[in-house]
Order: sequence, then C-alpha cells, then structure tokens
Amino acid sequence: MTKTDRAATSGRFFAASSGDTLQCELCPQRCRIAPGSAGFCGVRANRAGKLHLPFFGAVSALAVDPIEKKPLYHYFPGCEILSVGFLGCSLRCPYCQNYRIAHDTTARTQYIPPQQLVQTARNSGSFAIAYTYNEPTIHIEYLLECGAAAHRAGLKNVLVTAGSLNDAPARELLDLMDAVNIDLKSFSAEYYRKTLHAELESVLGFTRTAVERCHVEITTLLVPGATDSDDEIHRIAEFVARLNPAIPLHLSAYHPTSSFRTASTPAATVHARAETARRFLRYVYPGNLGEQTETRCPACGELLIQRNGYRTVLPGIASGGTCKACGRETDIVRH
Ligand code: SF4
Repeated sequence: MTKTDRAATSGRFFAASSGDTLQCELCPQRCRIAPGSAGFCGVRANRAGKLHLPFFGAVSALAVDPIEKKPLYHYFPGCEILSVGFLGCSLRCPYCQNYRIAHDTTARTQYIPPQQLVQTARNSGSFAIAYTYNEPTIHIEYLLECGAAAHRAGLKNVLVTAGSLNDAPARELLDLMDAVNIDLKSFSAEYYRKTLHAELESVLGFTRTAVERCHVEITTLLVPGATDSDDEIHRIAEFVARLNPAIPLHLSAYHPTSSFRTASTPAATVHARAETARRFLRYVYPGNLGEQTETRCPACGELLIQRNGYRTVLPGIASGGTCKACGRETDIVRH
C-alpha cells in the first residue's frame, strides 16, 4: 500500500447508475464508472459501488512561484504563492504542456494532508495557496478541505483551471476561491468537443459563475492553425467584455512539446491578436514571449505595473490603491 492508498477517501458528486455502476457528476464527461474502474480523468474510481479517491492528497508538484506565473497580473502583483499540483485531467488537449502529471497516474507523488499543506503555505510566507499545474478541480474534495482550512488560517485560495465543471460543484468550489485563472482554450464548441473532448458551454458557465464570486483572469493559448484566428479572439474578447471589460485577458504563445510539433506561435501573431482584443478589453497581455509587459492606467496612461520576467515593480500605484498620477481606482487587487 502506498502513502496515497492510506489517504484514500470517499468522493462526492456522483449518482448511482445501474447496479454497482456509478455516474460521476463532477464534470461534463459524466463518466459511468463500473466497479474496479476509474473515470476519464483517471483519479475518480468505483470501489464496490462507492466513489473512491485513491489520489486524495497525492501531490505531484509543490513550489513557491511568483503569482505572475499562474498567470495572475491584477491580483497581489509581485507576491509569491505556494503552488500545488496533482495528477490526472478531464480534458485531452493534444498539445498538453504538463503531460507527465496530467496523463500518467503512475508519476511520483507525496501525500500531503490538507492541514499540512496549509501549514506549509504559512511556513513559506505565502499569502495564499494556488491549486494548479494539472487540472485541480478533479480533486475537488481535497480542494474544498484545503480551501476551508486556508481561510481559517487567514490565507487566500487561487485556482488555475480549464473550468470544465458542472454547475453545482463549480458553485461550491468557487465559493471558497478568491482568485481564478480560467484557461478558455477556444470559442468553438466543435473544437472543444472533437479535439479537447470537453464542452465549451460548461466552461462559459463556469466563467460566469466565477465572475460573480471572485477575481477572474482569462488565458487563451494561441495554437497556430487551431485557436489563433482573429475571429476566435474577437469572439473571446467580446464574451469577456460582456462580463466585465476590466477582466485581464492573457494571450499566450504556444511552444511545441515532444508529442505536438507544430511550430511556435509567431510573436507578431500574438501582438496582432492582442490588438484585436484591446478593442473590447482594458487589459490584454501577450504572454510566453519573454517580453516585458506593462499595465497602464486606462484614464491617464500612467505606468502602474511593469513586469520583466518574473520581476514585478509597481511604480504608479499609490498606497491607497489608486493611480498616483490621476487618482483613479486601479483594477488591481492588493493586500
Ligand atoms: S471528474 Fe473524472 S470521473 Fe468525474 S465525470 Fe469528469 S472525467 Fe469522469
């Protein structure tokens, strides 16, 4: 028995299907799981008619990162955050950047109980815990425990997710989250269904629910020939602007992986799509290009934040959180 097996516990968000088969109700896959089998994500299993979580607390990666790496640019800029990842994924992106932990459930892990994770975050001096690296929402029971314990300890919770979750679990989870980066991979329902094996509508619903509850930023990876068209970014920016034109949109360059060899997104494409998105949104950031980025006051143009790599300075924000030059409230959450 491994450490993880010792921690295994019963899951929520499922219904009886037929006989001992269960239907998982966590994400739109709605897997029907026979006894002895696991769902599409590989981490939610049926043990004798009960939803079993053999990977509860199985941590694949733990690091203190700049929050800009999530990416979150308007939430506690310049701060570091304890970041934790697990195993498994409920999507099948062909260009997956984290294949080893997303799709190999034999990868090495260490068991960290929720209270211990919170204590680790406090010891690290971090203001929050980020659930990130793989698709963390498939470990929702662990996130709910950690999230509540983190709040009791005065820490914040940050979620980095593809947002592929059914409505009831999404609401429960987002009630505990303080900030979320949602990976909106495309605005094509067909691309989500056929290529990613997921559902666009549930991601849009998750995004609407998140915006009602916490700080939200959106990331779209520009995969050449797949998700980098001007029309696609136009529609994404329109959707985000209808929710709130102050939501930051990160347009990230894709780079090849060992199993997906399409050439990198040209920097010129990223900048052109950013210009398109800026017709609708106040804050659009080209990403993954190794370039310096800036946030300027939308009222007077003053430089508020400058990021060079993961070095962040805030020359234009007054201690009260307003623009030093014109006094406008900035759209930045700080301590
Ligand atoms: S969370 Fe996993 S088991 Fe549940 S429906 Fe989604 S992919 Fe299937």
